[in-house]
Amino acid sequence: MKRKNLLYVVVPCYNEEKVLDETAKRLNAKLEALINAKKIASESKILFINDGSTDKTWAKIVAFHQQNKRITGISLARNRGHQNALLAGLMTAKNYADIVISMDADLQDDINAIDKMLEKYEQGNDIVYGVRSKRKSDSFFKRNTALAFYKIMQFLGVDVIYNHADYRLTSKKVLAALEDFGEVNLFLRGIFPLIGYSSAIVYYERAKRFAGESKYPLKKMLSFAWDGITSFSVKPIRLILSLGIIIFIISILITIYCLFVKLFGYTVDGWTFLACSMWMVGGLQMFSLGIIGEYVGKIYKETKHRPRYIIAINLEEEEKYDLL
Ligand code: UDP
Ligand code: MG
Repeated sequence: MKRKNLLYVVVPCYNEEKVLDETAKRLNAKLEALINAKKIASESKILFINDGSTDKTWAKIVAFHQQNKRITGISLARNRGHQNALLAGLMTAKNYADIVISMDADLQDDINAIDKMLEKYEQGNDIVYGVRSKRKSDSFFKRNTALAFYKIMQFLGVDVIYNHADYRLTSKKVLAALEDFGEVNLFLRGIFPLIGYSSAIVYYERAKRFAGESKYPLKKMLSFAWDGITSFSVKPIRLILSLGIIIFIISILITIYCLFVKLFGYTVDGWTFLACSMWMVGGLQMFSLGIIGEYVGKIYKETKHRPRYIIAINLEEEEKYDLL
């Protein structure tokens, strides 16, 4: 049985007037080809999200829409950043589409990977991650900082797909589940693996930005990475607790050592007391911080209001989405 296949391609845009003509042209041609090949429904569309741009981005989107009903758009009230703009697009598209593909406006994500993504979807996958096969187009610095970032995330126990950004296909039911994640600090690529469902990977070569500048300067990149870590892991808190315990154990050893020196060697007056209390108080303080941190960590998890489970199949509702 063929799965439902009304596709929306969601593209967040912030000051992208330089690339938008080309992006719209190429995406439109791609959708047309897919519609003609009967791979997607004829009502499929391209949805541009204007993330509070200060240039002519929105005027362009409106003009596209007037010429071609296959292109549509939403405009946010102000700039909210890539992840929020993307979420706005996904949540809007989910009301109309069966399949949503998100990609950047700057044509760095290879449009031709869409065919392979749709194939994987047709085979029964509900999330298809676009993964960069090479990072030739990135600088040495960006490549290595990115690698370090994925490694740290994995060490902290966060499930992220290596070299996957936000080029991905998701089915309607995945987006319905995404809606239940109430967090404000959005790090979408960390949430999708949490949702579950069957997933697949499609490799593509990431190109250079077609025109315009990157909207992710180093500062934003670092704050994004920091958000990713602190929104998904309480391991840093656990590290403090472990450190506290270790220092406390060391303090007991040091106490024994100090007493030994005091009894059998030569020490200055008051040295034993000072040395022992310094280590013990330090260890106890860090230990207490770790315990307080545990509670803070719990509060932080509660405030996210994440769904505790997601039901994949309920036979009573089977025809609502194409589940089986
Ligand atoms: N973007 C956005 N809002 C922002 C910053 C970026 O919607 O505040 C969009 C941007 O238009 C592009 C995508 O997010 O479509 C990725 O941004 P960019 O290409 O600048 O990031 P890079 O590829 O350099 O990491
Ligand atoms: Mg880019």
